[in-house]
Amino acid sequence: MYRSIARIKGLGFILWQARHMAYHVMLGLLWVWFLREMWGEFRIQWLIIGALGSVLPDIDHIHYFLSYGRQDSYTREIFGFIQRHQWRMLFQFIATGHKNNTSLTFHNIYIVALFMIGTALAYFVDWQVGVVLFGAMVSHYVFDMADDVVQLGGFNPNWKRWGRPKKKR
Ligand SMILES: [Zn+2]
Repeated sequence: MYRSIARIKGLGFILWQARHMAYHVMLGLLWVWFLREMWGEFRIQWLIIGALGSVLPDIDHIHYFLSYGRQDSYTREIFGFIQRHQWRMLFQFIATGHKNNTSLTFHNIYIVALFMIGTALAYFVDWQVGVVLFGAMVSHYVFDMADDVVQLGGFNPNWKRWGRPKKKR
């Protein structure tokens, strides 16, 4: 009994730490809803594409963990939590730590501009799936940037930089 309560509490804690992702998805769905209003038309697959697009940019983090950021202490800590099955620690660590990961390759204003242009182009050629997908991705970056300002008091350096940082030696 106590064990299962502890488990539920643990899950609640994890969900709370993971709320950043839920915000992303909600924004993506909001974008779909906006398009539905604008086009006066709705397709169920837009929900899936919008949700997918809203979290897709975070492949950047996985790419970082598995390749050029593998040796960083941030990554090593994360893998340590996974190995020790410390899921609460893992989620809490990522919730605070991911805001300070300034090494991401594609979290920058140039990529945001590209996807904004992509959204506009898709709109002009009437490619609705493209509008849904690219727009949802733009919503991800915009939210991350706004979140930076709220939580860090300014933009993370990765936003102003094209590509990943040069290795310090
Ligand atoms: Zn992100």
